[in-house]
Parts: sequence; C-alpha cells; structure tokens
Amino acid sequence: MRAEIIAVGTELLLGQTVNTNATYLSQGLAEMGIDVFFQTVVGDNAARIGQAIELARSRAELIVFTGGLGPTQDDLTKDALAAYLNRSIVIHEPSMDKIAALFSSRGIHMVESNRRQAHMIEGSVPIVNEAGLAVGNGISEGGSHYLLLPGPPREMKPMFDGPGKTWLRTISGESRRLFSRVLKFAGIGESSLEQALIGLIEAQSDPTIAPYAKEGEVAIRISTKALTEQEANTRLDLAEEQINAIVGKHLYAREDIPLEEAVIRLLRASGRTLSSAESCTGGLLAELVTNVPGSSGEFVGGVVTYTNLMKHKLLGIPMSQLEGSGAPGAISDSTAALMAERIRERTDSDYGISVTGVAGPSESEGKPVGLVYMGIARPGKPPVVHTFNLNGSRDIIRLRAAKSALYRLWQ
Ligand code: ATP
Ligand code: MG
Repeated sequence: MRAEIIAVGTELLLGQTVNTNATYLSQGLAEMGIDVFFQTVVGDNAARIGQAIELARSRAELIVFTGGLGPTQDDLTKDALAAYLNRSIVIHEPSMDKIAALFSSRGIHMVESNRRQAHMIEGSVPIVNEAGLAVGNGISEGGSHYLLLPGPPREMKPMFDGPGKTWLRTISGESRRLFSRVLKFAGIGESSLEQALIGLIEAQSDPTIAPYAKEGEVAIRISTKALTEQEANTRLDLAEEQINAIVGKHLYAREDIPLEEAVIRLLRASGRTLSSAESCTGGLLAELVTNVPGSSGEFVGGVVTYTNLMKHKLLGIPMSQLEGSGAPGAISDSTAALMAERIRERTDSDYGISVTGVAGPSESEGKPVGLVYMGIARPGKPPVVHTFNLNGSRDIIRLRAAKSALYRLWQ
C-alpha cells in the first residue's frame, strides 16, 4: 500500500514549526511495512487542502493527515475532507461528553467552537485521543483510506501508535513488518563505499541496501519486509555477508553507534586506557571520546597543545624539533610520534594518541591544508605514525582528522 502524509498548518509553511510529525509518521509507517512515497505540507486553507487531497489520492491509497483538528476557525482538515468526500459532519458523543465534562469541571462556559473537536466525518471510525480533546478519524472509501490525526505531537504520537495503527492494520492487510540493520564503516568515504557495492546495490531489491553518510562515518542500512524476525534475519545475514565480502575490513559496528563508542568498547574489552595530545583538532578527539557515557574508565585525559610553546612546555618537546631552520616542525611525523609518546608517559595510559596537521584555511609551515599526522604510542614499542591528506573545509578536516585517528586506533 502506498501512503502519503499531509501535514496541515500555515506555521509549517512559514518555517515556524518543524514538521517533526511527518518524520515520526514516516518512521512508524515504514516499520509497519507501508511505503510512504510523498510528504506534503499545506496551509490552513480549505481550497488548498482540497487540492492536496486530490493530488494525494491520485498517487496513494492511504493518506495520513496531521494538524487542523482543533477548535478554531483555521482548523479545517475534517471540513475539507468531508467536503471532498461529500459527507456530512456528525458529533462523536463520547468525545462531546468528555469536552463538556472538562469545561464544567473547570467552571468555564463551553462555546460552540469547542464542539468542533468532537466532529467526525460521517461513516468514519473514531481514533480516540487520551492526551487531548480532538478526536481522530479513520475513513475508507472507494479503495482510498484516510487517517486524521491532530497536530500537537504529544497527542498525535499516542493516537498513531495506539488506535491509529490498529485501524491501519485492519485496512492495509499488510502483515509483514520492516526489519532493518545498520552497518557502520570507517576509513572509507561514502562514494568509495557506494562504488565498491554498486553491483550489489543495483542487483538487490530485497533486502534493500542503502548507504548514507553521517559525520565522518558511513553507514549502510539493509532492510527487508518479513512476517517474523527470524525470516528477516536470514535475509539480512545473507546481505550482510555479501557486503562484508567486499568492504568488511572497514566495518566497525553492526549497530548505529559512532566510531568513538566502538573504540571505547574495544579498550574496555581489553582493559586498556587512552590519552590524547591534540593540535589541529583542538580537543575534538577528546570531545568525541568523552561523549561516550562511561568513557572515564578508558579515557584518562588529554591536552590541547596548540602552539609550539605549549607542545614544549606541556609535553617537553624540544623547541629545536618544532622550529628553526632544518627543524621537522610541529606538523611532522616525528612531532606526532613525540606527542603521542609523551602524553602516554605523562598520563601512564596504555595508548597515547596524537593529532597534528593543517586544518586550514591556509597552509602552515609551508605544508598544505589537509595534511594531518596522527601518532599512536603504546608501551614497549616505537610509536606508529599515520599520514592523511584530507579534503574539505576547516570544520570537516578537523572532524575527519579526529575520526581518522580514532579509526587507526580501532584498527
Ligand atoms: P490544536 O487543538 O492544538 O489546535 P490541531 O490538531 O488543530 O490542534 P494544529 O492547530 O495544526 O493542530 O497545530 C497545533 C500545534 O501542534 C502547532 O502549533 C504545532 O506546535 C504543533 N504541530 C502541528 N503540526 C505539526 C507537525 N506537522 N509537526 C510538529 N508539530 C506540529
Ligand atoms: Mg489548531
């Protein structure tokens, strides 16, 4: 069954309210195995709501409305749909009683407009609203189905999840659900990942394989519709095997967690600790790692040694290493190695990690933007240094530098 969501509200068109209801409904419908092909936003205008219904009907069997069920004159959804279907408006008595009881308990006089919240389109099924006054409606006519929900998310969500979904199951006949698995990759860009998997992605329609990028990491969502979890897992496992045969060495998690969380879990499992010395990332690596709850067990701390003087004072790196003719400079593999080694020694951690490079926008020490060195020190072994040539704006280079460093550590 194809579905379209129509969010009604001029505030949405003005950009005053974010259309979070559409996101919520799309997720919920997808989980039920219902394909959402369009999301529409229309203002509080009867004629334009009518046009939106007409268009949605031409391309979907299910239309889910959110917004415009309230008491005021700009709440027009029920009237517009009733007019479109040529049906009259009737009163849902239990809702009317609830509204009347609320007003009398508060000692307020009920005005005529409050009755509107008990309105139902003739022949519809009530979708009860435990969190508010406006009753929702479910209607089927001529192969088209309409579900009307209110705008306030705290009312809309429980109505959709409870009576809304119950009604949808009766009309959709779709008993399969959508099962998804997220695979997370690092050390490979979105386009390279997609390129590597293009044959598989194009040949595959079930499960679907969809790559997407997310802040310095890439993910693949594999999804299938199935009756049972077991049936879904069999298919998802097979797709995952095919994917891993190609890009498995970059896979760091089989769930949607950031790379830093995978690093912390790895350190935790092996009982090791980590410290950091950062220059061009300005503490971003420490920020990412400490975003992981409970990381204090693994991450002991770090320093931001942004200037040469701080690299000298806090880490004891000789000034002759950092500047002067013939010196390797702050942005060099030997400085990255020293930074990693010194922070490891000074914090008594198992691993010391360092990042030094050129985030831009202009070159530094005559070295190009995007050149980043990352060092890893560990006890009893010489430090290892990795060199990266990263692209992007200053922000992106810093994020990629921190993530690349974490990726090397994870490896
Ligand atoms: P009410 O009885 O509050 O008038 P309603 O069903 O008529 O409810 P609207 O008047 O369209 O709903 O919207 C009420 C409020 O709900 C909006 O001011 C907004 O804060 C929120 N809202 C409406 N639509 C959405 C949406 N699509 N996404 C997120 N929030 C929304
Ligand atoms: Mg309203």
